[in-house]
Amino acid sequence: MSKKIQILVVEDEQAIREGLIDVLVFHQYGVDSAATGPEGLEKALTGKFDLILLDIMLPGMDGYEICDRIRTADRDQPVIMLTAKTSDEEIIQGLKLGADDYVGKPFSIQQLILRIEAVLRRSQAGLELARSIALDGIELDTENLTGTRSSGEVAFTKREMEVLSYLAQHTDRPISREELLVKVWGYAKNLDIETRTVDIHIAKIRRKIETDPKEPKNLVTVRGAGYRLVTRA
Ligand code: CA
Repeated sequence: MSKKIQILVVEDEQAIREGLIDVLVFHQYGVDSAATGPEGLEKALTGKFDLILLDIMLPGMDGYEICDRIRTADRDQPVIMLTAKTSDEEIIQGLKLGADDYVGKPFSIQQLILRIEAVLRRSQAGLELARSIALDGIELDTENLTGTRSSGEVAFTKREMEVLSYLAQHTDRPISREELLVKVWGYAKNLDIETRTVDIHIAKIRRKIETDPKEPKNLVTVRGAGYRLVTRA
């Protein structure tokens, strides 16, 4: 028997927290929980969790700050944000701070479990990264998660570098959003999930690698087909 996968639930609403714990225990996960921001941060930083489910609106410290501090301490820690409203700003802010994915409340249990399984599958499989990627105006170091341009250094999250690596390894064809969800996020194929995770990550990446993100030259959209990375030979 392999060791139980450990999940930390940080959620202040008692009914939701207890509901999540019940569901996760039922699915054979080991679960710890926190009801406030500071308690959640403390557990996240001192414990060892395969995944953290993080609410945004929390007493004491919000989920954004917690995510940011977790990411500073451990850039590989998988985090799924639980967002009350699926407003773009909330989602973008969460993903900007390094969350792997988000689930909008109210969420169905089935959707949540599928997301959890996807994030875990991804973090355990590990994607092979291209070592360095040369683009127009920027040189990417995938190991150190940095990009160097004439104006200075840019920091990337692991997930952003994985997206770039996958695209760099397949420059011969456009890569669809669905393919990225399967190959980079670990989603099961044909999973009927509504998510803007890929689009939001692409937008974030463009802000870092493009001289003009509105006129992308490195990461281009191929209409109706997906995305293509234009690398320098
Ligand atoms: Ca809350």
